[in-house]
Amino acid sequence: MRLIIMGAPGAGKGTHADIISKKLLIPHISTGDIFRSNIKNGTQLGVIAKEYMDKGLLVPDEITIGIVKNRLMEDDCKQGFLLDGFPRTIPQAEYLDKALAELDMKLDHVINLNVSDDEVVKRISSRRVCATCGMIFNTVNSPTKVEGICDACQGSVVQRADDAESTVRERLNVYHMQTAPLVNYYSTKGIVFEIPDIDGIEGKTELIFGLLGIA
Ligand code: AMP
Repeated sequence: MRLIIMGAPGAGKGTHADIISKKLLIPHISTGDIFRSNIKNGTQLGVIAKEYMDKGLLVPDEITIGIVKNRLMEDDCKQGFLLDGFPRTIPQAEYLDKALAELDMKLDHVINLNVSDDEVVKRISSRRVCATCGMIFNTVNSPTKVEGICDACQGSVVQRADDAESTVRERLNVYHMQTAPLVNYYSTKGIVFEIPDIDGIEGKTELIFGLLGIA
């Protein structure tokens, strides 16, 4: 299956993408994770991406598209993929359409996670992430067993630099201006599943699995 997961920052894209990709045995491709890993490894791409990410802005399309292009050409994408955080602009979506058409592939579904701005700010301020394996925690509803230590790999669990409240507000502005219009773009193709912000991860997972027919 070829899927996109969309939603405002903090909507739970990473969490649900992980669950869905494991269930379907398809690669979870997160452009945010690719940028963060480049920042961690001190690559040239990481240096450029950090400048934008720290301000809550989008990394320019030509850079982001190049990365996704290379990733989609890898063998593991032949059986499907789940894109998380891409596309985020209309030009990125148009590129994706073109690239998939060239590969004689098409998107199956777009999963749109709905969440209010107030909830985003509340949720992101309590979000923590493992600096080693990327596992996501929340100090309120899914804390680590030992404070600051990852349950899965014992790495350090920290707050992302771009999860500071002022940066989150900027990311929300960018989301409403540049990314939200993509819901319409894909709705006209009739492939969007709207997921309401019901309580708990499990309820949403069940709903998504049901819609995808993989329950
Ligand atoms: P995420 O982890 O998906 O919330 O992404 C974190 C940050 O990485 C975003 O706020 C952007 O600065 C950058 N980023 C991730 N995906 C994209 C994309 N498709 N286009 C441009 N910038 C992106």
